[in-house]
Order: sequence, then structure tokens, then C-alpha cells
Amino acid sequence: MKKIQMVDLQTQYFKIKNEIDNAVLNVMESSAYINGPEVKAFQTELEQYLDAKHVIPCANGTDALQIALMALDLKEGDEIITADFTFAATVEVIHLLKLKAVLVDVDYDTFTMDIEKLKAAITPNTKAIIPVHLFGQCANMEEILKIAKDNHLFVIEDNAQAIGADFIFSDGTTKKSGTMGTLGTTSFFPSKNLGCYGDGGAIMTQNDDLAHKIRGIVNHGMYERYYHDEVGVNSRLDSIQAAILRKKLTQLDIYNEARKKVADFYDEAFANHPNILTPERAKNSTHVFHQYTLRILNGKRNELQQFLAEKEIPAMIYYPVALRKQKAYFQESNDADFVNTDRLLGEVISLPMHTELDDEQLKYITDSVLEFMELTN
Ligand SMILES: *Cc1c(COP(=O)(O)O)cnc(C)c1O
Repeated sequence: MKKIQMVDLQTQYFKIKNEIDNAVLNVMESSAYINGPEVKAFQTELEQYLDAKHVIPCANGTDALQIALMALDLKEGDEIITADFTFAATVEVIHLLKLKAVLVDVDYDTFTMDIEKLKAAITPNTKAIIPVHLFGQCANMEEILKIAKDNHLFVIEDNAQAIGADFIFSDGTTKKSGTMGTLGTTSFFPSKNLGCYGDGGAIMTQNDDLAHKIRGIVNHGMYERYYHDEVGVNSRLDSIQAAILRKKLTQLDIYNEARKKVADFYDEAFANHPNILTPERAKNSTHVFHQYTLRILNGKRNELQQFLAEKEIPAMIYYPVALRKQKAYFQESNDADFVNTDRLLGEVISLPMHTELDDEQLKYITDSVLEFMELTN
């Protein structure tokens, strides 16, 4: 059996090696390394794929979040509501810009922002909501958009983990994740569903004025060369990464389908187990399984991770600490308001999830998890 990895980017690369190598070499020969035709072509192709009016590539997913916030003309102390259970980048940029992060609990079943908690967190100082489409599934955007409209709030979708997912509105229409809010952001970090071979990111919007503004911010606030109208940043996608992403974008739906097959295999193996909860598949979102995250109910999650490690099966705890308890972002809070987050921190374990897992590996993984559960019953 091939060694099991959390993410197997090497095998994935070898399947498209020729195309990728040629694309990279073409960029080298062209010598257009920054903002060349490859970046423009990738931007257009991603706009088409997402049905987004504007995609603005940038250097990484964290920058994308920061730039999105910078574009909204917020002022120090404005409140931004986001989830307590997510990767730290979301809250990091809020702090960096001296805005106030207001963290709310997540829904126990979907791991995304709890709608009632969101409503309760809104104050006259609230300016924006950042829902995170965690692990590959959209937050409840229909409700979030309604709440944002009623309260005149911006919405920035952190779509680093769910590119390619569809949100399904109650009237049956669908939209791609990251294209519904005022702004959407994503990351092309290698292990993301659409990953490049280095760092990369993008911002999405349907709004022409915001798109124009952001195109300046990513390039030192310049709209005309050497005239700086805004305080900007240097955050660009390089041409080599864009060339790689153009090839990989053509595979994204195939990759997401392969992830879903892995999830189906896992789901079937663990169905109806009294101490294992498989990820819920929400009715209002397709799932692109950036992660496949189980909840282990017998209190032995850490022992399970150890047991799997001894069998050379990697498994990860996303995430072990709530953001509100992190040293850098610590805030006084009432734990009673965060029961789901705090419960999830002790129960979640993410199994290997990537596009190259075969049935032999999957059977070994599921048998090993079930063996542990049997032993510790
Ligand atoms: C990966 C990730 C980011 C940051 O993306 P980078 O490209 O690594 O900067 C932001 N938010 C979430 C939810 C992520 O998973």
C-alpha cells in the first residue's frame, strides 16, 4: 500500500506533470513574471468558472482578507463579526487593521457561523460579517445576506476552504461560494482545493467600484503609475503560479468530485456508529470536502489520533483552540455563549483527504478507526 498522507500533492502533480512543466517553462521564457498575460488569463477563467464579475488575484488568502477589509473604508474600532472556530487568518487581519473582532459560536453540525448568535452580536458599531465556509461547505448565506441587508452590513465570505461549492437558495437558484457577499476571498495555498505551488490568493466581487479600488490597493494604491491615491500593499499573484492555476482550474471539478468520493467512502464506513458523527451535508450547500472532519463522542479523540499515528495514518485536529482563547486574540467571554465551539474543540478529528486516495488506503483508514472504537468501547 502506498504511504498515506494527509494531502498528497506529489501524486497529483505527476498526473499533470507535462502540462504543468510546459506552462511554467513558458512563463520563464516569456520573462513576464509579475502580472503578465498568464495572470490576466487566470483571472478571466476564474471569473467565468465562478460567474463572478471581478476576480482580483493577490499574494495569498490572508492578504485577500486584509485587502477586502481595507477596501471598505472602515475606521478603528468598527466591529467585524466572525466565527470563533476557524483558521486564525480571519481574525488576525481584523486585529492588524485595528478593527474589533466580535467572535460568535458556530453551529454544531455544519461548523459554520451560528445564525442566532450572529443576530445577537450585532450592535450599532457592527460594520461587517465574515462568514467562513469551513471545511468545504457554505455557511448559511441566505440568512446571513438577509441579516446584512436589514442591518446595512458588508459581508466578506472567507472562501479559502470551499472554492467550487454551490450555495442553494430556497428558491432553487444556486451561486458559487465566494460570489454572494459584498466581497469574497480565497487562498491558493498548495493544500487548498485549488492550490498552486507556492502562495496565492484572490478577492471576488460583483461591485465595479470595489473591484477598481482593490486593483489599486494590491499594487501600492496606484491607479496611475507612480501616483499613489490610497495606502496600499504589495500583494500580487506571480505569473508562474497563475500558469499552474490555469491548468489546475480545469481540474477543479474533477478534484472536488474525487474528494466527495472519499467522503462517501468514509460516510458509509462510519454510518450509524454510536460514537462517531460524520460531517453533516447541509441541504443548502454542496460540499467540496476541503477537510473530512469526524466528531468522536466517546471522549477518546486524542487517543484515536495517537492510535492512527502508530498505524502511520496521519490525522489532524482542526482546530485545537478557540480563537477567543488564543494568546494573540484573547478576549474575555462567557463560555456559555460558545458551547458548540468548545465541544467541537474536544471532538473533531480530520482524516486524510485529497484527490489521490485509493480504496486500499481508505479501507485501511476506516478499518483502523473502527478497530480503535471497538477496543475502547
Ligand atoms: C488557508 C486559510 C486562510 C489563509 O490563506 P493563506 O493563503 O494561507 O494566507 C484564510 N482563511 C481560512 C479559513 C483558511 O483556511
